[in-house]
Amino acid sequence: MTIKDTIAAISTPMGEGGIAVIRISGGGAVAVADTVFRSKMKLAEVQTHTVQYGHIVDPADGERVEEALVTVMRGPRSYTAEDVVELSCHGGLVSVRKVLELVLASGARPAEPGEFTKRAFLNGRIDLSQAEAVMDLIRSKSDKAFKSALRQVDGSLSRKIKSLRSQLLALMAHIEVNIDYPEHDVEELTGAHIRGETSEALNQVRGMLSSARQGKILREGIVTAIVGRPNVGKSSLLNALTQENKAIVTDIPGTTRDVIEEYVTVNGIPLRLLDTAGIRETADIVEQIGVSRSRGALAEADLVLLVLSGSEPLGEDDRKLLDELDGKETLVVVNKMDLPQRVELDEIRARYPEDRIIRISVQAEEGLEQLEQAVTQLFLSGQVEPEDMTYVSNVRHIHLLQKAQGSLEEALEAAGSGVPIDMIQIDLRNAWEELGEIIGDSVGETLIDQIFSQFCLGK
Ligand code: GDP
Ligand code: ZN
Repeated sequence: MTIKDTIAAISTPMGEGGIAVIRISGGGAVAVADTVFRSKMKLAEVQTHTVQYGHIVDPADGERVEEALVTVMRGPRSYTAEDVVELSCHGGLVSVRKVLELVLASGARPAEPGEFTKRAFLNGRIDLSQAEAVMDLIRSKSDKAFKSALRQVDGSLSRKIKSLRSQLLALMAHIEVNIDYPEHDVEELTGAHIRGETSEALNQVRGMLSSARQGKILREGIVTAIVGRPNVGKSSLLNALTQENKAIVTDIPGTTRDVIEEYVTVNGIPLRLLDTAGIRETADIVEQIGVSRSRGALAEADLVLLVLSGSEPLGEDDRKLLDELDGKETLVVVNKMDLPQRVELDEIRARYPEDRIIRISVQAEEGLEQLEQAVTQLFLSGQVEPEDMTYVSNVRHIHLLQKAQGSLEEALEAAGSGVPIDMIQIDLRNAWEELGEIIGDSVGETLIDQIFSQFCLGK
């Protein structure tokens, strides 16, 4: 498969919609579009970045299939950096499919998922982290994740990585000069200088990693297990949360777990709610907890909502659960506050701080907002406005950042223990390369050597 062949796909979501866009990219994009599009002018003759009105026709018999607005964007000033033609048609599913069929019959082949973005990367239009952000964007399940991915497309992560790398490169270049010209009158490199610069870089990497947690949560959802003995109101709570917070996306891959699972968005934060009671509501609670699936759900949970009934004293089952959940991020939800209260709140307060105990009534629709606030508070800590964050939301990025962190820690340690500076150089160089992999800079010896040979004049 060569990069030069021409690809096409429907670029707007399938289904009802005002308009649908079919995107064609590649060397033959304009010719393919000209085969199926009739207008005053041939697309091959129109100015780039202009829109033409006309009709999509079946080239076999000239029959009009659709009305269309067609945009021609000649490379490299296009999304893929290749010639791109976009056909905007009416949104009807049948006619859009028909248009795509005609396009494919005229010399384009169906694009693979993400292939337009892949081409943008291969053609050097965007870097790897931006390409991945586009993928995240397409998959993101909440507003905040969407905004985060959008910022990354803008390149805010790339910018951070790039500036960090150039700081590292400057330091490495300094060290290099010192190695090559020990008696030269360049600024002498003290251990303190190297340590200062290295720990500055390390702090930046740590900062990016600490935002990674939110990034992960925002993209995949906080796995939230609702547990409690039978009849305390778990299913009612699940329903209430689901009704109030319509999930934006419902295409969560089905799980084989026998657990009722709902996807909701609370204050922009996606939650994957698991009603573990869905397993066997009537079973003895101890046995129920023993069920491996239930345990699995609990083990997987980022957050546990332990539901108790406020209208009854704590039972042995409740206490067992309170013990069982020790060490898990837990909110204790005391339900049924509309009924006369008989639960021993003091005993719960002895185990959990006040802000972890939320009193609600699902039936009277009271306290749900406080519960949602508590969840939000727990995971965003309310300190930083998400808008100001760069989320590192990609497993590959996190992995590489961790490696870079390790390399910088080693450099720092070496710098503090009188190791020869060319040994420190190796660690710094590793960090520089690991960071480079995030943005898809294929780095080789030659590139580094080239940079250094320029820096060390006359060498
Ligand atoms: P689960 O077994 O823990 O899932 O509990 P359910 O959600 O099935 O609820 C058990 C019973 O408690 C049902 O009859 C609910 O209508 C009732 N219930 C749930 N929440 C409340 C509440 O806040 N107040 C009152 N009075 N009843 C409730
Ligand atoms: Zn239930």
